[in-house]
Amino acid sequence: MSDSPEAPSTPTFDLIVIGGGPAGYPAAIRAAQLGMKALCIDSWLNRDNTPSFGGTCLNAGCIPSKALLESSELFHKAGHEFAIHGIGVGTPVLDLKKMQERKMAVSKANSGGVKLLFQANKVTGVFGHGELLGNGQVKVTAHDGVATTYKAKHILIATGSAPVELKKIAPFDGDKIVDSWGALDFSAVPERLGIIGAGVIGVELGSVWSRLGAKTVILEALPGFLPMVDAAISKEALRQFTKQGLDIRLGAKVSAVAKGKTDVTVTYEQDGETKKETFDKLIVAVGRRPFTDKLGADVAGVALDERGFVKIDKNYKTSAAGIYAVGDVTGGVMLAHKAIEEGVVLIEQLHGEKSEVNYNAIPSVIYTNPEIAWVGLSEEQAKAAGHEVKVGSSPFAANGRARALESIAGQVKFVSDAKTDRVLGVHMIGPYVSELCAEAVLALEFAATTQDIQMTMHGHPTLSETFHEAALAVDGHAIHSANKKK
Ligand code: FAD
Ligand code: AMP
Repeated sequence: MSDSPEAPSTPTFDLIVIGGGPAGYPAAIRAAQLGMKALCIDSWLNRDNTPSFGGTCLNAGCIPSKALLESSELFHKAGHEFAIHGIGVGTPVLDLKKMQERKMAVSKANSGGVKLLFQANKVTGVFGHGELLGNGQVKVTAHDGVATTYKAKHILIATGSAPVELKKIAPFDGDKIVDSWGALDFSAVPERLGIIGAGVIGVELGSVWSRLGAKTVILEALPGFLPMVDAAISKEALRQFTKQGLDIRLGAKVSAVAKGKTDVTVTYEQDGETKKETFDKLIVAVGRRPFTDKLGADVAGVALDERGFVKIDKNYKTSAAGIYAVGDVTGGVMLAHKAIEEGVVLIEQLHGEKSEVNYNAIPSVIYTNPEIAWVGLSEEQAKAAGHEVKVGSSPFAANGRARALESIAGQVKFVSDAKTDRVLGVHMIGPYVSELCAEAVLALEFAATTQDIQMTMHGHPTLSETFHEAALAVDGHAIHSANKKK
């Protein structure tokens, strides 16, 4: 660790947060609420060179992707579903420029909100690149190149993640071969779209562009589809997505990409054969890496693991005294709400509170149509963990609200412990299950039994009745759907 000399006028804070994404900005706000003098530094620059708080999530991730998923879904519905309701709109016309402008406006409203929250909570927010100098000091280089050094008792690394690049096979060129950010910004719908990786980001972006008319092929190296999802749900998802026209090729490992003048040809190995496919655009969605570029981790004595994630203990302490890390940069599931919780919990711990994150109750959502959401253990995981398991499921086809919504595909599945009746996991595919999942998270958080859910009244007609029915089905009591034979 270097002992950089400290200028007498160095501005001093109780907490410096490096990174203003979901891991960083809520931590800074919580710290200010608890009486700490907090500084949050963020280096994000939008395409138009405007700086912005909110990180990947608000600027190039969760929010813009959901804005485009909503717009593309409405476009698809106008062309394919309105007529069922007796609404004639003719052939819908796509104004992609306007759709993209709306997406930007949604993102900017959210990231602008962070600035307002900082003002309201008296958090000092600065734009620029933060670099650890050791000795509690952080150098911030503003976008105009002016550097200022700050000092604090506590420093929080919340620098997030960046897309993994297949440097040897398919380096990003910002035009024909793009990352997820580039894929959110297409100015024209590609006729033939290729995606490497059928993870959450791959299937969400594939859904957007396929609904807008791109002939979309997703190449996935693994033999199974969405392996982190309960098998019954991922099977149903693959069926639904294929029906919608997404061409998902499993066990297809991309080995080479050749760029032509106006297209890219991808070579992949599948079933022992070498195959080729040509696309107008190629999205590489093969995961995200921790972002610690020019952070000064080595100077400050912050150890990274072999994959570059910041090493932390269970209280988010790094190997350097007074320096902590939360969010994507520390690994684990890369989700915004997990990052938020970690940041807030760390600050509360620093304030002396007994706060902690329940890592067994982190919801996961895939915002496709139908949506996929789950929390807790899948049937396979529960069995592998030694539980004697009982399961129950109910289809949305038996739900009146789902029929009224014209969205009957999918089901809710409960996984419960046969001995204690405790709910171990809930897995869903269907309409708005992203919202239904909150009840499942609460069930796990409160250690609910299946019977607790069975005895809870659910409004009629609501999609939540399928959640209730699935709990009833665990013990063979479902009223509106067939119970599994014992
Ligand atoms: P980030 O959001 O990456 O924020 C880190 C910030 O730190 C950035 O602004 C970065 O510029 C800044 N920074 C980095 N280094 C420095 C430095 N040295 N100095 C100053 N600033 C620095 N998650 C969900 O939960 N739900 C979703 O629906 C969802 N959809 C997604 C869709 C896409 C296309 C992508 C790419 C991701 C999605 N995610 C989603 C994941 C989610 O965006 C991340 O888990 C989340 O943003 C992590 O928050 P973070 O604060 O750890 O990192
Ligand atoms: P995720 O980590 O959830 O974003 O998903 C990324 C997906 O990309 C994983 O399912 C990987 O198996 C897949 N993947 C990684 N490299 C390749 C490759 N060369 N060809 C095809 N799929 C890949």
